[in-house]
Amino acid sequence: TNTQLPTRRLPNILITGTPGTGKTTMSELLSAATSLQHINVGDLVKEKSLHEGWDDEFQCYIVDEDKVCDELEDIMNRGGNVVDFHTVDFFPERWFDLVVVLRTENGVLFPRLEARQYSSKKIEENVTAEIMQVILEDARNSYREDIIVELSSNTVEDMEANVEQVREWAEEWVKARMQ
Ligand code: ADP
Ligand code: MN
Repeated sequence: TNTQLPTRRLPNILITGTPGTGKTTMSELLSAATSLQHINVGDLVKEKSLHEGWDDEFQCYIVDEDKVCDELEDIMNRGGNVVDFHTVDFFPERWFDLVVVLRTENGVLFPRLEARQYSSKKIEENVTAEIMQVILEDARNSYREDIIVELSSNTVEDMEANVEQVREWAEEWVKARMQ
């Protein structure tokens, strides 16, 4: 058959969550603590124009999901990536070995988004999405329950513990495949 099992030696990890929950911060720290490569999908979309223009209403790029998947296919097959993005439902399920969903309390998330100079509409939308756990639900609809981990990202201590937990998970993943 054409179905091939993943042969990667290093895992691929998806770090997702509502804007402001700490995806990029966590991905950078994790990448610095391991040999995993951070891929900031939002930046990639901008740099490589993997979009269909700017959405004025939602103040964001209209992502060309097929182009993003084509761009990342070989990189993901090689393994060893930390993929940082807030939309999860269009990536192939087979790409990921672990899906981390970061969660932040609304009273903590609100000032983080304010500090980003987001419009009040955009702040409101994101805080509501976080309360409704939209991204967690999307992740559950897209990946197996046993590869999803939901982590609190309210404090710096949370962040440090989360990086350490995922670093240890990656180390175990590699060990389990070395024999
Ligand atoms: P995202 O990539 O999910 O939009 P960022 O990593 O850019 O989020 O984080 C947004 C802001 O919140 C940054 O200023 C970051 O330093 C801060 N931040 C993120 N996570 C935490 C945390 N767990 N504790 C304290 N500050 C955090
Ligand atoms: Mn980010």
